[in-house]
Amino acid sequence: MIQYPDLGLYIGGQWKKAPGQPVLNPADESVLGTVPTATQSDLDAALSVAAQGFKVWSRTSPLKRSEIILKAVALMRQRVEEMAVAMTLEQGKPIAQSRLEILRGCEIIEWDASEGRRVYGRVIPSEPGMKHMVLRQPIGVGAAFSPWNFPMSSPARKVGGALSAGCSIILKASEETPAGAVQLVRAFHDAGLPPGVLNLVFGKPAEISEYLIPQDLIRLITFTGSIPVGKHLAEMAGRHMKPAIMELGGHAPVIVCDDVDPVATAATSVTGKTRNAGQVCVSPTRFFVEDAIYGKFTEAFTEKARAVKVGDGLDPTNQMGPLANHRRIEAMEMFVADAKAKGARLLAGGERLGNRGYYYPLTVLADLPDDARAMREEPFGPLALINPVKSLDDAIEKANALPYGLAAYAFTRSVRNADRLAEGIEVGNLSINNLVASIAETPFGGVKDSGYGREGGTEGLLHYTVVKNVSHLMM
Ligand code: NAD
Repeated sequence: MIQYPDLGLYIGGQWKKAPGQPVLNPADESVLGTVPTATQSDLDAALSVAAQGFKVWSRTSPLKRSEIILKAVALMRQRVEEMAVAMTLEQGKPIAQSRLEILRGCEIIEWDASEGRRVYGRVIPSEPGMKHMVLRQPIGVGAAFSPWNFPMSSPARKVGGALSAGCSIILKASEETPAGAVQLVRAFHDAGLPPGVLNLVFGKPAEISEYLIPQDLIRLITFTGSIPVGKHLAEMAGRHMKPAIMELGGHAPVIVCDDVDPVATAATSVTGKTRNAGQVCVSPTRFFVEDAIYGKFTEAFTEKARAVKVGDGLDPTNQMGPLANHRRIEAMEMFVADAKAKGARLLAGGERLGNRGYYYPLTVLADLPDDARAMREEPFGPLALINPVKSLDDAIEKANALPYGLAAYAFTRSVRNADRLAEGIEVGNLSINNLVASIAETPFGGVKDSGYGREGGTEGLLHYTVVKNVSHLMM
């Protein structure tokens, strides 16, 4: 039988157990294990071995580096089933989504590993005897902070980028969903990664970030999480002149034009909204539907939403698992009560299911006023907010009205509409007639309060490098 794995800190190629905090199963609130808390001396040890690891790894050829990384990915592919079960146990998402997340994480790392062999510089012609060379070198030791909603693919983005560029890294993964990072690190250990290149710590997030970010040795910060925490870490990074990748929250608009089939679009939208029970920074959330098809779209969406089967993610017939923690239940209850009090129509869901396990149904609210809190603050849960719009311009204005700018979606058959959307929507990722925000090859990230920097694609990989110009006069 597949078990929840042993959890540990991983420093300098060694696993270490320590007292810490319990990890809960959101499906029944039982305790799965204990995630250890790193002490300051653990962090000092991680810094010192990461410096050693960087010396070794940055001088390892890109080919050799990619061979070791790809071996780790092959091991993860062999271990998909045990990794998926652990993910569903600790995070709640349906088992099929856990498998997909692991495979997606593998694809991300594989792409980075291959692209890492193509991080070239350039030679610039000049006066005779003079040569200018632009070198791209690994930036150094990175400090990475990954969240609880994607326990494996978020660490994969950070580890894949750093290691493929020749950097070493200290990863502080989520204490609430630690197994994904532990299993990822175990695969790299088993693949023969030199000690110190990849280090994993857990503990009190604020204490760890405040200790690591100012350290001279740390040359890059990468954080995925909420906007308030991102702003705090970005300030700290700025004070210490550290470049940072900030992948923060979103409040994705979905613009539905009146030239599409409302029923088919509603079905696609419901499937997208159920992904990870809406606890996704790119979750489709604010639906702006043109007047002519508003009624049909809302009706079809509501019918499909009511049919979504919610339950333990280990049962493969369930389409939505529990929310990941009790904070999300409280947030959903607050958003729904506030929207109802302000006159929104509740069409589906809206109440916690049972009182053991953090189950909350797919909830549909329609005709929300602009000042409903859910329309302004990221719900980060299974709420779909549907409002009518008079025109595409009206929809674009509403979509851009918030300080968020991560992902947006639109459905239209018109090339002219698609062009206006591509020009006018203020986001890092726009998807037209689909709900796929990014793949391994494409850059993913936000504008405005949703952050800066990109993960994935060439743009993401290059964050882990620095440019050095060398001018050489031949003697
Ligand atoms: P939170 O703001 O307390 O924490 C967000 C994340 O930041 C967590 O992973 C946490 O461990 C980490 N964190 C918190 N303080 C930190 C610090 N000082 N230094 C380093 N890391 C720190 O919120 P929460 O209740 O855990 O999550 C809810 C909100 O977080 C959501 O509303 C959503 O906006 C956001 N979130 C976004 C993403 C994303 O993919 N962008 C992922 C998870 C959570």
